[in-house]
Amino acid sequence: MSKIILGGGISGLSAAYYLSKTLPKHPVTLVEASNRVGGWIKSFKPTNEVIFEQGPRTIRPTGPPGANTLSLIEDLGLTDQVLPITASHPAASNRMVYVEGKLHSLPSSIVSLFTTQKPFTKPMVRYLMRDLYAARKRVEDESIYDFTSRRFGEEFAEYLIAPLICGVCAGDAKEVSVKFLMKKQFEYEQAYGSISKGLLRNVFQASKPEALQGLALRARKERWRIYSFGNGMETLPEALSGYITKQGIGVVLNSKCTRLEFVQNEAQLHFGESKTLKTNHVISSIPSASLGEVVKHQHPRLAELLTSIKSVNVAVVNLHYKGQLIRRPGFGFLVPPKENVPILGVIYDSCCFPRSKDTVLTVMMGGKWFEQLFGEDPSEDYLLQVARGQLHTILGIKQEPVHFKVSILQKCIPQYVVGHDEKVREIQEYIDTNKLPLSVCGASYHGVGVNDVILSAKKVVRNLSER
Ligand SMILES: Cc1cc2nc3c(=O)[nH]c(=O)nc-3n(C[C@H](O)[C@H](O)[C@H](O)COP(=O)(O)OP(=O)(O)OC[C@H]3O[C@@H](n4cnc5c(N)ncnc54)[C@H](O)[C@@H]3O)c2cc1C
Repeated sequence: MSKIILGGGISGLSAAYYLSKTLPKHPVTLVEASNRVGGWIKSFKPTNEVIFEQGPRTIRPTGPPGANTLSLIEDLGLTDQVLPITASHPAASNRMVYVEGKLHSLPSSIVSLFTTQKPFTKPMVRYLMRDLYAARKRVEDESIYDFTSRRFGEEFAEYLIAPLICGVCAGDAKEVSVKFLMKKQFEYEQAYGSISKGLLRNVFQASKPEALQGLALRARKERWRIYSFGNGMETLPEALSGYITKQGIGVVLNSKCTRLEFVQNEAQLHFGESKTLKTNHVISSIPSASLGEVVKHQHPRLAELLTSIKSVNVAVVNLHYKGQLIRRPGFGFLVPPKENVPILGVIYDSCCFPRSKDTVLTVMMGGKWFEQLFGEDPSEDYLLQVARGQLHTILGIKQEPVHFKVSILQKCIPQYVVGHDEKVREIQEYIDTNKLPLSVCGASYHGVGVNDVILSAKKVVRNLSER
């Protein structure tokens, strides 16, 4: 019986890839609701020299998840297409925040840690040193805002962490769990009283890091900070799709699963009234809320847990202007929520990856504040007007774009609010206790980045093959 992967985003495609490596002779079918694979990864080309990324635009090469993705990229034969940004590039060294009507560069060098850089009122090193004496608070979990303002001070949380959370998951740092981005630091505080003490202990106790090889080693030597592909991010899902198809994995598009039932050791997937597929194991890579919808009739408690992981809407406005309009090259800027400006941030795509002499920008809007700012169903025209208004105010860009694209991404980024880890643990426990032939991977559970979801797929396949 064929194993079934539900969802053809990057995590579903990765699950298919790892299955083909681990269980090469095993029949596998990937089923996707829409008419394409790739999920949120979508690169649109208004001209040959311009790429509008609708979803993710860069990947980090660092850490085991980063090395894992690079090894996948190498195996797919995409090495030559990788476009890295190294440490000395302005897009790596100049990240800004927009505070009180001005753009401020964030500290990015050793020297800058010792000087006061607005919007901060002290040198960065003073915030970091606060951790040495700040009192420990014993908690199971807390918001990343509370944690960082306790350990490093309010300004640190306000101007560094809150905009960072807007940039990473379009969320509110006052709600998002500290474990989302600072799990290790939180554990250090809980175990040793401060992050610095934990770091010191770790220096002596840490096991040797895994030796890097291939592209991951090259990335470290060349000091890559982030990367994309010459032809845009969609290169990766396209290559994965090509690879799995060659391995004989069936990819079925336009098939939305509407009900998933478990009968003894078997899973039955229903696609409307007419089509049903049976399997001895389902790997679900679809958003947890969508999985909750399809299992709710038979497993209401599981559905309740799955749908309690909420996602936010994001409006993405891509714009292409003639000529060079950016005066301070950099990655772009983020806006702390406290500023009450109706955008999350702007990415300077043409600084990151110059493909011509023109300017390409992406304005991110909404997220946690989408409905509050724009209502339930804003028009694309209105969102474009807001985005252009902010580009005028902040960057002085008045001219008409030669191309633009407005996309409203519904429920596109899950929010790992306080208690998320516990919820995920309960979901897994329910699946294990009830012996459901089901594994879950993708952005809803163990990290929202491209690296995280690829690794989540790899782990699910490894667990399955070890059974
Ligand atoms: C605007 C934006 C910017 C981002 N920027 C970055 C970035 O710069 N770097 C980074 O690392 N990450 C970034 N991310 C995060 C990253 O892109 C996503 O977390 C990742 O692409 C999610 O992949 P996935 O396969 O888990 O889910 P998805 O991409 O959501 O794929 C799930 C698939 O399942 C299908 N599906 C859903 N329900 C059903 C059903 N019932 N039956 C069949 N199929 C179904 C969907 O159609 C979809 O194709 C960004 C995300 C967004 C939205």
